[in-house]
Amino acid sequence: MTLDTIKEVIERAKNIVIFTHENPDGDAIGSTIATYLVLKEMGKNVDMVIPVFPSTFKFLPHADEVLEKPSLEKYDLAIALDCADIKRLDDPTETYLKSETRLNIDHHTSNGMFGDLNFVNPVAPACAQIITTMLEYFKTDISQEVATCLITGIVTDTGGFRYEGVTSETFEIASEFLGKGVKISKIYKESLNNISKEKFEARKLAMNRIEFIANGKIAYTYMTKEDMKKLNVIQSDLDGIVEIGRDVEGVEVSIFLYETDKGYKGSLRSNDYVNVSDICLLFNGGGHIRAAGCTLPYSLEEAKERVITQVKRFIK
Ligand code: 5GP
Ligand code: MN
Repeated sequence: MTLDTIKEVIERAKNIVIFTHENPDGDAIGSTIATYLVLKEMGKNVDMVIPVFPSTFKFLPHADEVLEKPSLEKYDLAIALDCADIKRLDDPTETYLKSETRLNIDHHTSNGMFGDLNFVNPVAPACAQIITTMLEYFKTDISQEVATCLITGIVTDTGGFRYEGVTSETFEIASEFLGKGVKISKIYKESLNNISKEKFEARKLAMNRIEFIANGKIAYTYMTKEDMKKLNVIQSDLDGIVEIGRDVEGVEVSIFLYETDKGYKGSLRSNDYVNVSDICLLFNGGGHIRAAGCTLPYSLEEAKERVITQVKRFIK
């Protein structure tokens, strides 16, 4: 898909809607608001839809303009950002499917190419980095607000510039944005470091429960709906738990299961050699090589047993 075709489609469209994946993270939200602001600046009528907006990202500019559902029945163009699979698109009204043209911009290896136009770069460390590159290609002026949203996506999806996917371009973007006056240290603090008391208690419980399996190469923990109710936390408050196990010496794969209406959601991370996206694909999920997820429509015991059996096959 050439960027020129995408440009033409955007130029022709009047009404545009932006969606992202369910349980949105910093990359999903940063990419969404940045794209919204750029399209608004171009004079488009734009809606950005995020049905459940996590409080962590309320600090972003224009976060209060995010809608819970689309304001129109039909749009000329619908854009899916940071979403590998149409099933995960947080679009309760199925407006994406009803739109005239569907664009899919993403960086997941497992992307299903579900758009009419697909711009997918699996080696980009964040969807926000792809958008930055696109804007540079289009010679679009990147305002301080847009840069703030984009760098939030990059900072969060790279775990603060720590992951393998980080490229020299990532630092070039960060450097350029710092030059524009973007407060990267504030963004880092707000989106990665600061946690609510509830989040802290959730991490504490999950941490206490960590089990080390397969000679310490697998870390496993879980949370039930009942725990979440007791702790007064929602799904987005559980971010960061799976990384606790991953960062323990000797662990190759960390698994975190938490209960949802559809059974247990599995969140997997690896360190060096296990492709967790391939493992999650076995359960109709997906993601990246070192970070992936899936839904396990089973009891806790069964979900645990099934996922650990698959992970063990890949452990050396
Ligand atoms: P997390 O474990 O943080 O929820 O997700 C890790 C990565 O895997 C993210 O990039 C996320 O988009 C992706 N992911 C999580 N769950 C699913 C899923 O059920 N299906 C697909 N295709 N990707 C998922
Ligand atoms: Mn992402």
